[in-house]
Amino acid sequence: MFVDRDGTINPDLKYLRDADRLEVYRGVSEGVRLLREHGFLAVCVTNQSGVERGFYTEADVDRIHGRVNEILARGGTAIDRFYYCPHAPETGCRCRKPGTLLFERASAELGISFASSAILGDRSIDIEAGEKLGMLTVLVPSRGHEEEVLRECKERGVRPDLVAPSFRAGAARLLHRG
Ligand SMILES: [Mg+2]
Ligand SMILES: [Zn+2]
Repeated sequence: MFVDRDGTINPDLKYLRDADRLEVYRGVSEGVRLLREHGFLAVCVTNQSGVERGFYTEADVDRIHGRVNEILARGGTAIDRFYYCPHAPETGCRCRKPGTLLFERASAELGISFASSAILGDRSIDIEAGEKLGMLTVLVPSRGHEEEVLRECKERGVRPDLVAPSFRAGAARLLHRG
């Protein structure tokens, strides 16, 4: 199970550098716990162009990911693995979503089959990456951005399989769908 980070696990604070400012949305730890209880690995794939832009370092990113897991640990769960793209869009790498390289790496390293996995994210790029790989896609627009995100999906010709109002609801619907 793939999950996005900014706007999905935590409010998107735009180029967050300081792990102490990180907050995790309500219900995320419960959603992650549900998914893992059903046998999924929780793999976070995130674009962090702030690294190449010089806004923060890879060590800062690692600290933030450590902090996410400290917070999730209070709910008895964790993200199993984080993958991030450090590049700016101009670099034209293959790992920046909607590129699929990080998903392919995760699939190879962790033995994840796309056909039986899914992606949950707040933006069209998450859904687009999932579609390219034949995964089930779950859109969870962050609060206040619902219309903008649905419009963005339409413009880019991507169609999420499910749309849910929260991470936890998205996880639950995904599992009920079988
Ligand atoms: Mg996001
Ligand atoms: Zn990249």
